Amino acid sequence: MIIDTENTFEKFELNRQLLNAIADAGYTEPTPIQNKTIPLTLLGHDVLGIAQTGTGKTAAYLLPVLMKIKYAQGKLPRCLIFAPTRELVIQIDKAVGELAKYTDIRHVALYGGLGPKTQIETIQAGVDIIVSTPGRFMDLYLRGEIGVKDLKVMILDEADKMMDMGFMPQIRSILEVIPRKRQNLLFSATFPEKVERLSYEFLEFPTRVEVSPQATTAETIKQRMFPVPNMQTKINVLEYLFSTAEVQKTIIFTRSKDIADAVYNSLNGRIIPKNQIRVIHANKGQNTRINSMDAFREDVVKVLVATDVAARGIDIEHVTHVINFDVPLIYEDYVHRIGRTGRANNVGEAITFLTPAEEYHIKKIEKIIRMEIPREHIPIEVEIATTPFDENQAMLIEIDNQRKKEDPTFKGAFHEKKNPRPPVKKKSSSAKKSSGLPANVTAKSFSSPRPKNYGFAKNNKSSKRK
Ligand code: AMP
Repeated sequence: MIIDTENTFEKFELNRQLLNAIADAGYTEPTPIQNKTIPLTLLGHDVLGIAQTGTGKTAAYLLPVLMKIKYAQGKLPRCLIFAPTRELVIQIDKAVGELAKYTDIRHVALYGGLGPKTQIETIQAGVDIIVSTPGRFMDLYLRGEIGVKDLKVMILDEADKMMDMGFMPQIRSILEVIPRKRQNLLFSATFPEKVERLSYEFLEFPTRVEVSPQATTAETIKQRMFPVPNMQTKINVLEYLFSTAEVQKTIIFTRSKDIADAVYNSLNGRIIPKNQIRVIHANKGQNTRINSMDAFREDVVKVLVATDVAARGIDIEHVTHVINFDVPLIYEDYVHRIGRTGRANNVGEAITFLTPAEEYHIKKIEKIIRMEIPREHIPIEVEIATTPFDENQAMLIEIDNQRKKEDPTFKGAFHEKKNPRPPVKKKSSSAKKSSGLPANVTAKSFSSPRPKNYGFAKNNKSSKRK
């Protein structure tokens, strides 16, 4: 009797075509999620997989599916894979191409942002696997372009993001039109209630498999944070970090398109040579986004500035640094963002900037990842910018709202005046006194060593508006 103690792909009894493709991809041993998912899927079980990106989850569901599909057959698709964004769709489709390279399995990526003509032609020629966003699939289905009667397997990837992006109605419509008898796999980085509800609708007696995200993040990703008083200081720290170290492969995440553009503009051509930095967000055309990602992947571009949605599904090897220019408000995105680095056993670094108004959110994130992210003082060389009045007010209101959320009896230390005072003349304003908070924060508030509370809410004697 042979006792298989080795952790190899051979033990799954995949066919030679797949094993060769796995070898070409450079995978020497299955990852934990692959070890758990592949045998169950091969046996035909429905699987609920809780695994973040970077764990090898894509191959975990693709390999058994490719094994089942084996070769091209008929015209209609037998496997449907849904993902929330076009970038992720393209990436999954690429993985299908790589793992199925020694087979004749036909596959297509369907996503919006470009005309459907080529996609329709590919479908009409016959496909075995469709990778799609829910929206584009439903569009083409309703136009009568996709036959679903041969479907045997349906996969939802990054289900939590799909729920966040409001795809539930489309997924429901899809479930109504596809054959009931099929195998279902659902993957999600996190398992909030809405994903749990979806799993009841979508899966039949599923087996739950899970790999712990915090184990993978803590092991291969060094995390740290810089508390800063305002947006301009974030830019200053960013510029400092880039000007003092050799620029390595870095993704800078921002919460919005405007901030992404601002960060890009501040670095482009000044701190980072023009051809080495790109920005991707929803306002950038589809081709521009794909070109930028390819250039980044190929190391032509060193720095990518990206919003969460645009960056979803980026799978790029050897990213050395992830910089969270701001703290994501969808807390799970923190895990997704930093998961871009430290992939496949490479060590990476994740640096987060946070203002006082973002403290609240980072505490929640620390709860989710079950660790405290180490804080560092702003390097002494970095200029701490004065917080503009409006930004300061906005932060104070936000902090007030956060407190109210946590404690409904809290009346609020700060409220906006209906008729704000003119900015000058009054020596000591009653408004300031009544709020007990500064109208401005100056560089003076940061004596060395730079205080953890930024001198923000209390030591406000010096804070006169100029
Ligand atoms: P995923 O979690 O599917 O986004 O995969 C993350 C990265 O890990 C991708 O670059 C894969 O190519 C890579 N990967 C997947 N499986 C393995 C494996 N068994 N060994 C090494 N790398 C892998």
